[in-house]
Amino acid sequence: MLRKIKVLFLDRDGTINRDIGTYVVSREHFQLIDGAADAIALARSAGYRIVVVTNQAGIAKGIVTPEQVEDIHRYMNELLTPSGASCDHVYYCPTHPDFPHPVYDRFSFCRKPETGMVDRAIDEYRFSGYEVDKSRSFFIGDKTVDVECGQRAGLRSILVRTGHGEEELCREKGIVPDFVANDLLHAVNGYVLSSDG
Ligand SMILES: [Mg+2]
Repeated sequence: MLRKIKVLFLDRDGTINRDIGTYVVSREHFQLIDGAADAIALARSAGYRIVVVTNQAGIAKGIVTPEQVEDIHRYMNELLTPSGASCDHVYYCPTHPDFPHPVYDRFSFCRKPETGMVDRAIDEYRFSGYEVDKSRSFFIGDKTVDVECGQRAGLRSILVRTGHGEEELCREKGIVPDFVANDLLHAVNGYVLSSDG
């Protein structure tokens, strides 16, 4: 018997940490967006699991190594933990269609807006005895690919105006998020917690 859980799937750059206009390659480049830790802590205390899904094509481009990306994720949790806001799992996708790579190309199914990372998280939870209740789970990010990924995965999607805040581009492409929030804290306070019956 699987136990049902609800999950917040979160984009990283521009959603949790400031988008610095280039790849985050070291800890110094990683700065939390104001309110992000509070948002994650609130969601956790409301019973959400936190899963980060991030495209990190800088790996295929040779700008950042998987080890550096993983170190940044350790650092992210170090910054979040004092607020009661750690992430349960982090998935990153190393590929980029314009930068073919003999090892990373097999992960192209995971590059958002593809749903590979979300699917894998759901599979791994199932393997551990938990069923992700999609009707009570959300995807939050700052780009059209985040909204699209959430929709393709059958989740309600929230666009945040931090980072790239692609509200206009979403409109042009006809990709309509369920909610547009000023930032992650507004997304959680203004939509997630009030939608969860
Ligand atoms: Mg982003």
